[in-house]
Amino acid sequence: MSNLLVTGGAGFIGGNFVHYWAQQHPDDTIVVLDCLTYAGNRSTIAGVEQAELVVGDIRDTDLVEKLLRERDIATLVHFAAESHVDRSITGPDAFIETNILGTNSLLKAARKVWLDEGSGRAHRFHHISTDEVYGSLGPSDPAFSETTQYQPNSPYSASKAASDHLVRAYHHTYGLDVTTTNCSNNYGPYHYPEKLIPLFILNALSGKPLPIYGDGMNVRDWLYVEDHCRGIEAALKNGKAGETYNIGGGEELPNMAVIDRICAEVDRAFVEVEGLAERYPDAPAAKGRATSELKTFVEDRKGHDRRYAIDETKARAELGYVPQHDFETGLRGTLRWYFDNEAWWRPLKDRG
Ligand code: NAD
Repeated sequence: MSNLLVTGGAGFIGGNFVHYWAQQHPDDTIVVLDCLTYAGNRSTIAGVEQAELVVGDIRDTDLVEKLLRERDIATLVHFAAESHVDRSITGPDAFIETNILGTNSLLKAARKVWLDEGSGRAHRFHHISTDEVYGSLGPSDPAFSETTQYQPNSPYSASKAASDHLVRAYHHTYGLDVTTTNCSNNYGPYHYPEKLIPLFILNALSGKPLPIYGDGMNVRDWLYVEDHCRGIEAALKNGKAGETYNIGGGEELPNMAVIDRICAEVDRAFVEVEGLAERYPDAPAAKGRATSELKTFVEDRKGHDRRYAIDETKARAELGYVPQHDFETGLRGTLRWYFDNEAWWRPLKDRG
């Protein structure tokens, strides 16, 4: 595969992908393009020798062209995005700028360098998207497949839907070699503490409320981030140009079940792991009480989609993708990671 350009590689999934790729492909060079928004963090990839961080914006088309040319890049994996639904509700503009205009900027640069200047040399533009583009499911609706109609409901999912359409259009119109994966809710190491699982873990440790939207019965599929990275690798190797693939974790759960599992795992960890009570004295579990006492119902998110579910038959059949973590083992590993990496999350949590 040789040289890769990874956009958003200082973020949660992109950062995990950089670690994963470096382990699996030690001879490859990884150029990370990331402008380090609040969600980007140098320290996420600081230890990866093969990765070089270029601090820059994906909307800077000249910079992207230069990187593709000068670093001899033939594979671009595009994670960079504004990714938090709640922030898109209070401020949609950044989502339009980065997710739509930013993706178009990358596609323009790829088209110029790979097709116009490079006489169609072998290349791949892989786009990371979300199951949220498909809208919301009722309790007994079939899971989202790659042919489900797009019905995005939030400014975030609408901006991702637009970017998916642009990627598809650059293939259809110009012949750019593209693939897209639409994945479900990721969790795992290096997850910014505004998202549900790290927020609840870290609030549980500091004795802060665990805020539950609405009735807590919104359903999501949960995907361990390393499995997602494996799916992206499979799409890069086996995916066909112009195709999209759904990547899920096979773990469809109501939020309340996720929250109860986190509470149970935190309680269990305080019994099993030595020294936690001293490190986190404000945690209810440090005083022998149940973490679940922190559960607090709050006003529901505006336009909150009720249920997402992923049908990943195509990825399994055509890419050979199989998730390797169930939710219980993935969550346990994630919890352990937060215990072992306080130096990573503490500054993010403290700045709020
Ligand atoms: P994240 O918010 O943790 O990271 C995004 C990264 O992109 C950050 O490092 C940020 O600095 C960078 N970035 C933002 N704007 C940029 C710009 N204009 N130029 C350069 N870099 C920029 O996001 P994530 O959770 O890692 O998500 C990665 C991708 O996966 C996104 O495209 C997202 O839509 C998609 N996705 C995420 C999930 C999930 O559960 N986290 C689920 C489905 C799809």
